[in-house]
Amino acid sequence: GKERVYNFSAGPSMLPLEVLERAGSEITNYEGSGMSVMEMSHRSKVFQKIFDDTQAKFRRLFHVPDGYHILFLQGGASTQFAAAPMNLIGSTGKADYAVTGNFSSIAYKEAKKYGAIHLAASSEDRNHTYIPAQDQLELDPEASYFYYCANNTIYGTEWQYVPDTGRVPIVCDMSSDILSRPVDVSKYGVIFAGAQKNMAPAGLTVVIVKKELAGRELPYTPLMLSYKTMIDKDSMYNTPPCWCIYMLGLVLDWLEEKGGVEGMEAIKHGKARMLYDTIDASRLFTCAVEKDSRSDMNVVFRTASEELDAKFVKESVDAGFTNLKGHRSVGGMRASIYNAMPVEGVEKLCDFIRAFDKNN
Ligand code: PMP
Repeated sequence: GKERVYNFSAGPSMLPLEVLERAGSEITNYEGSGMSVMEMSHRSKVFQKIFDDTQAKFRRLFHVPDGYHILFLQGGASTQFAAAPMNLIGSTGKADYAVTGNFSSIAYKEAKKYGAIHLAASSEDRNHTYIPAQDQLELDPEASYFYYCANNTIYGTEWQYVPDTGRVPIVCDMSSDILSRPVDVSKYGVIFAGAQKNMAPAGLTVVIVKKELAGRELPYTPLMLSYKTMIDKDSMYNTPPCWCIYMLGLVLDWLEEKGGVEGMEAIKHGKARMLYDTIDASRLFTCAVEKDSRSDMNVVFRTASEELDAKFVKESVDAGFTNLKGHRSVGGMRASIYNAMPVEGVEKLCDFIRAFDKNN
């Protein structure tokens, strides 16, 4: 068969090889249970232990304080675009949104169905190539919450600070940078993330909710979207995404071996710097994102010509890389270098960029 490739997909993305191998070795008979985790009742003792252990590991490694619930839900990050306003906007009827890319723009439009949504900041004026500074945020002290997306997967920008919103709770979409660096969870009201980049296969959404924010949902909030329902039933109001929760547990074991989020921060920052330095030093390639806003997870770059971009993408496939073509709305190239991308994969990509730069 074909060897494993360096897969730069924005998501679903690479999982650590060790994790895949362990999952493979347990796939038909999990720890002597005589069945796969895929075949287990979510109410069984064996699965309950997987669930509890994964939740505890997540709390420990991501440093989630006691006053917060960790939910393992379905529906993807996009479902939380509606769940956040439905659960939270009831306190004042208003919310502030920072729109710095595609997914915060969708979240902003979704939230408008449920209350008075104010655009607190937008980076659209410079095509989402930067993150607004604290003093550019137009904050309403009466907002029920302030919303932002920590890492913009498509535009390749990442917030390098946590906004100071005073007493207004912060809701943050961390889909594409969760577990890549330490986060002071106590500064947030709600953090959510789809699993399919840094955590597990698609199908699981991790939602971290500050206890006191639950229980104020709008009356027509579907049971499935109510934080309170899911908190009261510890994510098991209905069938949770069992297999993905198990996979998250394996990824967390791997993360712990790498030094946790602290260890990962150093590794991912080294990988990103190597790639940005290579792009900046080249003749042909540019990165339009302002230096202090660049993402360590999604590196967006291009040449001056679409033909040359296409040639780069084509030759990269022959060289053993995949998914380097940029998002259709931005063009050019994008290298997503999440936790599971080995340093060696980035080194090889840098070699390839240098060779292409020399030969074209
Ligand atoms: N937010 C961000 C930052 C994302 O990158 C994505 C998906 N690429 C989403 C939200 C949407 O996630 P999902 O497909 O899980 O709904």
